[in-house]
Amino acid sequence: MAGAAMAQWARAQQQAAAGGPFLERPAEGRPHQGKVLLALQAHSDDIALSSAGTVAKLIEEGYTGYLVRATNDDMGDSPGLGTPGTIAENALGNERDNAHIAEILGCKGHFDLDYTNHRMADVSVNELISRLIFIIRLVRADTVVCWDPWAHDEENPDHYTLAKAVEAACWMAGRDHDYAEQFAAGLKPKEVQDKYYFARRPEITRVVDISKQIDKKIEVNRANVAKGPAGHHGSQLRKELAAHNEKLPLLGNDDATADRNYIREFVMRRSRALGQQYGMEYAEVFHYIPPGAAGADHDPAIDRYIKEHVMPLR
Ligand SMILES: [Zn+2]
Repeated sequence: MAGAAMAQWARAQQQAAAGGPFLERPAEGRPHQGKVLLALQAHSDDIALSSAGTVAKLIEEGYTGYLVRATNDDMGDSPGLGTPGTIAENALGNERDNAHIAEILGCKGHFDLDYTNHRMADVSVNELISRLIFIIRLVRADTVVCWDPWAHDEENPDHYTLAKAVEAACWMAGRDHDYAEQFAAGLKPKEVQDKYYFARRPEITRVVDISKQIDKKIEVNRANVAKGPAGHHGSQLRKELAAHNEKLPLLGNDDATADRNYIREFVMRRSRALGQQYGMEYAEVFHYIPPGAAGADHDPAIDRYIKEHVMPLR
């Protein structure tokens, strides 16, 4: 181990020992085989930017994954980001990009709820909860990745509206009187066990090492053409420079290399900085809610107590 890497590793060990966040390392084999992951985003670039490495990692380690997108992304992006277009072009571009992203992440399927972009505050929260409960029960979701419903500094109403509905749905989906007509249609109660919440200003309780998944995260962001800071920005910059007889060595000799290298250098900067902080090459950070921490109606300590103390009647 090189000196700098050794120092980083030592710092990470100290952090963990001092009660710092849990460091989730790459797992051997497929320990999550048989479990189902629901990755939920308001917009086509949310998971790509915040947690695509973790979603890819969990699927590689055995989860069956599904991607949910709550809005139709018809408001496009800020000036200079994504692809300029009309409202209808934004919706179509993001619909296609999102399907491509689900495929790159290795998801078995994806659902578009298609609420109007930036207008989710208008949506009946109970309708949204009901739709999410249906999906959780349908795919038998064990784990979710989503925006943190309780994070600070969030500006986008779609993010916190979706997040609050997801948190409620994760718990209510496990109950046997809520939306009981779904049982008549063949579904069964299913409580979500654990949650990886991401945020603009995260409360960090879990750090995921995504060094092995960084190329996949770059590909997911490269697929975000209609929206986001990645997509084809690298090849566009290469073309603009060439028009003035200039080039950047970073951008290589073809469009795909330009896009990938641009994303690695600029868009992955936060993942790299987080990695450096925790002794990894690339990382993503979460407010992680472990199994049993929320919504658990049955106390497993009672089972443990019975097992330990039970004795024959005579
Ligand atoms: Zn968003």
